[in-house]
Amino acid sequence: MIYFDYNATAPVMREAREAWLAVTERIAGNPSSMHQYGQKAAVALSEAREQLAAYMGCHPQDIIWTSGATEANNMVIHHFARKLGPAGEIWVSAIEHPCVFDSSQFYFGKRVRLIPVTRDGVVDMDWLTAELADTRPGLVAVMAANNETGVIQPWREIRSICEAYEIPFFTDAVQFIGKMPVKALGECDYVSGAAHKFGGPRGVGFLKIPHRSTLTPLLHGGKQEGGRRAGTENIAIIAAMMAALTVREKQIARNEHLLRGIWRDNFERELLRHLPGTSIVGANQPRLWNTVSALMPDGDRKLQWVIRLDKAGFAVSTGSACTTGKEEPSHVLSAMGYKAAQAVRSVRYSAGWETTEADWEALIKGLIKTQAELHPGK
Ligand code: PLP
Repeated sequence: MIYFDYNATAPVMREAREAWLAVTERIAGNPSSMHQYGQKAAVALSEAREQLAAYMGCHPQDIIWTSGATEANNMVIHHFARKLGPAGEIWVSAIEHPCVFDSSQFYFGKRVRLIPVTRDGVVDMDWLTAELADTRPGLVAVMAANNETGVIQPWREIRSICEAYEIPFFTDAVQFIGKMPVKALGECDYVSGAAHKFGGPRGVGFLKIPHRSTLTPLLHGGKQEGGRRAGTENIAIIAAMMAALTVREKQIARNEHLLRGIWRDNFERELLRHLPGTSIVGANQPRLWNTVSALMPDGDRKLQWVIRLDKAGFAVSTGSACTTGKEEPSHVLSAMGYKAAQAVRSVRYSAGWETTEADWEALIKGLIKTQAELHPGK
């Protein structure tokens, strides 16, 4: 079986497993305890915090460990709901992950304005600059890269505009971190990440907040994380996350992702050549090197492809994992202007650092075979 669903989750890499085991064996204490066991745990925790802060270019105290990005994203939206009060309005891009989208709807209802995207799946900068010149929302949220299409958003540019207007800027960088250089992310006010997208364990992530700012906690209880997130920190999985990120940062520094981008591009070219009627979503935009969102040939619904490819030995996805199994048009493709009949044809192929050129080539062969099964005689 060849795995092409890294945007849903990635296998836990060896370095991360080893780091988890080493910390589990060596560190028995609770980082909040005063004794030596506790202090040893506290040191490991602050080392991890310093490491992540150094990668992102922020202060270690700006980082709050969380159970993942869903929690981190909910923390941000909840914080602004409290801070802005009943009249506050926030703007979120129309292609955000459900954990940003739904929590915004939950806390802000009609006071959420959707930032439109172009047909290529990138935030409409003309719209945004024109609207921001007139109105000042309490928060602007635009993800760094989209999980379904891989389209990279102009988050640096949006951040600068927001800074000029003194509007807090939040980016969900879950799909970006571990695939692209993270350094400048620290400039954003709020940034979320999750380990399991880049080879760390599931159930751990973080939120970066502005330096010396306060955060209304979502979880109440102990005073962990500077009183911003209650609950005993799981140092072993945090260490495992940092071990994974360290490997990814080195690979990115060596530009190893560029070659992988070429393999992906070759796959797309072959896909279009062998399966007429297929198109690539967001083809004209800078995209993550690992992601292909393709509209499969006319008349074929995506679940057929996913099920048949699974039988043929390829794990692919209908889009975001959270909508898997529901053959409904994705809100991302709808926001890009695709009609429901087109959007139900989308299949996502997402590779990882472990994916080889031969894997991409095998996928092409699998697709050609599946196409022949779906349309015998064609
Ligand atoms: N944000 C994006 C862009 C994602 O792709 C995901 C996971 O698919 C999440 C947030 C949620 O992450 P988690 O499931 O780790 O909480």
